[in-house]
Amino acid sequence: MSAHLCPDLEVLFAELEEGEGPALDHAADCEACSAVLEEHRLMEQDLYRLADPLPPPTLVASVMARVAAEPVPQRREVWSGLAILMTSLLGGLGYLVMSDQALGRLGTGVASFLVEGRLFAEGVLSGARALWSTEGLAVAAILAFLLLTSLAGLKRLAGSAPTPSEA
Ligand SMILES: [Zn+2]
Repeated sequence: MSAHLCPDLEVLFAELEEGEGPALDHAADCEACSAVLEEHRLMEQDLYRLADPLPPPTLVASVMARVAAEPVPQRREVWSGLAILMTSLLGGLGYLVMSDQALGRLGTGVASFLVEGRLFAEGVLSGARALWSTEGLAVAAILAFLLLTSLAGLKRLAGSAPTPSEA
């Protein structure tokens, strides 16, 4: 058959869906249309492969078997507890160092104001006192936070430790 008799591709694909039709009959004998249909078939195959992400039915079983074979080591739990403790301690240390510098700057400021004039001294000192109380609040909040995180870390340690019957 000559090329100019080839059906419209839309008609061809519509008949392909239905499974029968004159265009499909033509395609069976026509090299060009067969090639188009073959290309379409391969593309459809790829699409189905992409659209079907379902894992093989044995996957869940194999994963569960692997999980059962490799339980999370208890040591990892202990390490994570220790990591929390260390982070808390380092954080507290860093805060103390930083607040020491802050307090040093504050002292320098107060001293220079005292040198400049006694008139400012009282105001500055009351301001400093306000800062101190603010700092104190911050320190208390940080310490409370550290205490809580440390307790969380200890709790993790205690929770992951083997019970007497297990030991
Ligand atoms: Zn054709």
